[in-house]
Amino acid sequence: MGGQAFLRCYTRPEMPTTSNPALLEALRRAVGAGNVVHAPEDLIAYEYDATIEHALPDAVVFPGTAEECAAVVRAANQFDVPVIPRGSGTGLAGGTLAVKGGVVVALTRMNRIVEIDAANRIAVVEPGVINLQLQEALAPHRLTWAPDPSSQRICSVGGNIGNNSGGPHTLAQGSTVNHVLGLEVVVADGRVINLGGRVLDAPGVDLRGLMVGSEGTLGIVTQATLRLIPLAPNVRTLLAIFDTIEAASEAVSAVIRNGVIPVAMEMMDQEIIKVVEPRIHAGYPMDAGAVLLIEVEGLPEGVVIEAQAVIDACRASGAREVRSAETQQERDRLWEGRKAGIGAIGAAVPAFYLLDGVVPRTKLPAVMHRVMELVEQYGFRCANIFHAGDGNLHPNIMFDPQEEGATQRVLDLGGEIMRLCVDVGGSITGEHGIGSEKRSYMEWVFSPTDLQAMERVRLAFGSVERFNPCKVLPGGHGCASGHAAEIAAHISKPGVYI
Ligand SMILES: Cc1cc2nc3c(=O)[nH]c(=O)nc-3n(C[C@H](O)[C@H](O)[C@H](O)COP(=O)(O)OP(=O)(O)OC[C@H]3O[C@@H](n4cnc5c(N)ncnc54)[C@H](O)[C@@H]3O)c2cc1C
Repeated sequence: MGGQAFLRCYTRPEMPTTSNPALLEALRRAVGAGNVVHAPEDLIAYEYDATIEHALPDAVVFPGTAEECAAVVRAANQFDVPVIPRGSGTGLAGGTLAVKGGVVVALTRMNRIVEIDAANRIAVVEPGVINLQLQEALAPHRLTWAPDPSSQRICSVGGNIGNNSGGPHTLAQGSTVNHVLGLEVVVADGRVINLGGRVLDAPGVDLRGLMVGSEGTLGIVTQATLRLIPLAPNVRTLLAIFDTIEAASEAVSAVIRNGVIPVAMEMMDQEIIKVVEPRIHAGYPMDAGAVLLIEVEGLPEGVVIEAQAVIDACRASGAREVRSAETQQERDRLWEGRKAGIGAIGAAVPAFYLLDGVVPRTKLPAVMHRVMELVEQYGFRCANIFHAGDGNLHPNIMFDPQEEGATQRVLDLGGEIMRLCVDVGGSITGEHGIGSEKRSYMEWVFSPTDLQAMERVRLAFGSVERFNPCKVLPGGHGCASGHAAEIAAHISKPGVYI
């Protein structure tokens, strides 16, 4: 990502296993010599994702089939090294970092759309298929796969499944887990299993549901059967313009109180508008305190009624204007601004830390107010762009890593904001997952017994040490603490924030 800096490095005392020629030979046998990368200068490209930490793997492999993935896992078992599944590496919680070294399994070559069954509204895809490419293939059938992260131009379906990703349409359609029917998975003993099926309510224990959102800790997804939904016959896109982010936050609840669940309700504050508008010319007023991008869809008559209810609720909450996109081109432009927002921050500042929390929707105005107070106290600037309808906030804290102490302060601030989310009844992630970044915050939201239950699931899959160690759950044998632990140590008591 443009201006994002790679600030923290996990150090491992042991020698990199790339010096182990026998492991490299086994990996070459598994996937072919041309599909194994181990030169340090090549590995650097795989030592980070979109978060601010980094860790160097020992090797990266590019399997082409499930059987090749399985062979890689068997080789990793033989040499006792971790396996880290990786899609496009756009994750924002360090989920693909090789924090204990090991073999990154990059699924980019497994990028075939195997089947589109339009009549039964099913697609079967390999994990490396890019989200937007799938949407483009579905469009002629007037179908869509609902998960639409703002990174959809580059993120993979496997990564969407790994993180149970959301997007603008999560508000109405739910997150990825609601749109996955079946999975083919390579598990820790190197065998291939099938979970779920082609119907919504497959018989047996719902291991498919467990796998979605497990962040690469239970196995490698090698094929997914996806539930498709029809594209709406009619869409109306509105831009509600406010003087303050608090008023825009009030409007979010007011719209839903008015009886409408829009398919999307996206917030952008003044800092975002200032970086996006000059680059994208989306049509956001430069003097607005915040805008809400709201979309309703359905049959034409319903769309008219719902759009009016949205407009009324926004006006009652203090919107100074509500614009409606009149053409597809105008609609695309409004969305282009939203989708390019985070990249635009990256181009404008040396570095930023993108946080992901979630709070009850009704708490948004007070929480946003407190977030901005905290940002000011810490002496930073912050740009906010998020799926407001879900109560999901994404403060982007801008900072200069060259400034002494700035990195530690930005991480401390991030911890305070996560604690604030928890204290008001929310949680430490709305959609980006836990990864290595937030695993020590898990104790803020789960009891030791809850965490043990999750640990036992991992044990049942045989994967505690094999797949993505030191992710999601706190503790773990030989796991460095990571920055979240340092912060958690000094923000360990519930705060009285608002
Ligand atoms: C600009 C920007 C905007 C974003 N917007 C959103 C958004 O709106 N909503 C949202 O939810 N996220 C968003 N994200 C975060 C990220 O894009 C999503 O989490 C995305 O789904 C990750 O996909 P990926 O292919 O990059 O996965 P990766 O980052 O490569 O992997 C993510 C996790 O999934 C695991 N994984 C990957 N592939 C597999 C597999 N085949 N089998 C098992 N585990 C696997 C990995 O081990 C890792 O834990 C955004 C990121 C950026 C940079």
